[in-house]
Amino acid sequence: MEISKKVQKIPPSGIREFFELVIGMKDVISLGVGEPDFVTPWNICESAIFSIEQGYTSYTSNQGLYELRTQIARFLNTKHNIKYNPEEILITTGVSEALDLVLRAILNPGDKVLVPDPCYVSYYPVSFLAGGSPVFINTKKTNFKLTPSLVEKHVSKGVKAIIFNYPANPTGVSYSRKELLALAKVFVKKNLMVISDEIYDELTYDFSHTPISSLKGMKERTIYLNGFSKAFAMTGWRIGYACGPKNIISAMTKIHQYTMLCSPIMGQMAAIEALKSGGRYVAEMKREYKRRREFIVDRLNEIGLVCYKPEGAFYVFPSIKGTCMNCIEFSKELLRKEKVAVVPGTAFGSQGEGHIRISYASNMQDLKEACVRMERFLKKNA
Ligand code: PLP
Repeated sequence: MEISKKVQKIPPSGIREFFELVIGMKDVISLGVGEPDFVTPWNICESAIFSIEQGYTSYTSNQGLYELRTQIARFLNTKHNIKYNPEEILITTGVSEALDLVLRAILNPGDKVLVPDPCYVSYYPVSFLAGGSPVFINTKKTNFKLTPSLVEKHVSKGVKAIIFNYPANPTGVSYSRKELLALAKVFVKKNLMVISDEIYDELTYDFSHTPISSLKGMKERTIYLNGFSKAFAMTGWRIGYACGPKNIISAMTKIHQYTMLCSPIMGQMAAIEALKSGGRYVAEMKREYKRRREFIVDRLNEIGLVCYKPEGAFYVFPSIKGTCMNCIEFSKELLRKEKVAVVPGTAFGSQGEGHIRISYASNMQDLKEACVRMERFLKKNA
């Protein structure tokens, strides 16, 4: 049976492809996947168990539990002073689904979407599958940051939206309020819709996170995406959400009601509890990630993997320039010789060449041992 030409054209995820190699290998330290090493805080699990015991095992409304949407609205208002009402919020099966829905809801065939390069693995394929035409913005020369002039330079006829992500995967870069104000000016001037993936917002270490939709003139053109996977260590619960103008949320809900129906009720119940009482656990995990960031950045620079200090998320994106290997060779050899799994930078776009992504969502002991192994590897391959 023939597979759709569109699907044939998209590459498999570079992360997953690489991790096939790890399966079956013993004693590997994996610094590859973007997954917290913490388990979901117990009181969040307990509230989900309790809700199952009470018989909450059904579908919910397509848009998601009203109580969860109310809690999200309250949380965003209290924390960031952005006002969304529950009708402007859709509960999705992770930010992954929200991304797919928003692109399908707004794009007509051939509409162009600006996508930073490097970026999270799904941005290109999901835009393409939605009928869009992704236009890459090379951020290598600007330390992997979007700048107003870079964005402006890439806006041409037919560009409808930009996918924006901060703190960013794979680089960890984020933006201060001042930088966001400058970017927002261009987004408004060029009439761009902004799909803002802020899934790592709670993991911002050096300044407080400003959602772009909280800036003047931005709420009406932003689809704000967030979820519970990262900050609350809830990847397996599959709960994300999108906030935005009512007509776009309704269009997304229309697709969601046919393709997903609703997100799992257990996850939604757990997310309510996360918002009510998860704050202190998030703060504890964040403190630990920050400690790991200090360690890994210092140590990588010491052993010759030059990297800048990321402002958020739990990734570093060091350069491997000194090694005469490309990033795929480097990652494969490091795995084969020293059993350390990292992700080649090109998994995130062609501009990731010359870099590898290291996740410091692994425990300190593994990070320390991985650095010893990487140092040995580098000495042998200098
Ligand atoms: N967006 C970014 C930037 C990510 O790094 C990830 C997961 O790694 C996702 C979205 C997917 O998140 P979710 O688990 O909510 O689907």
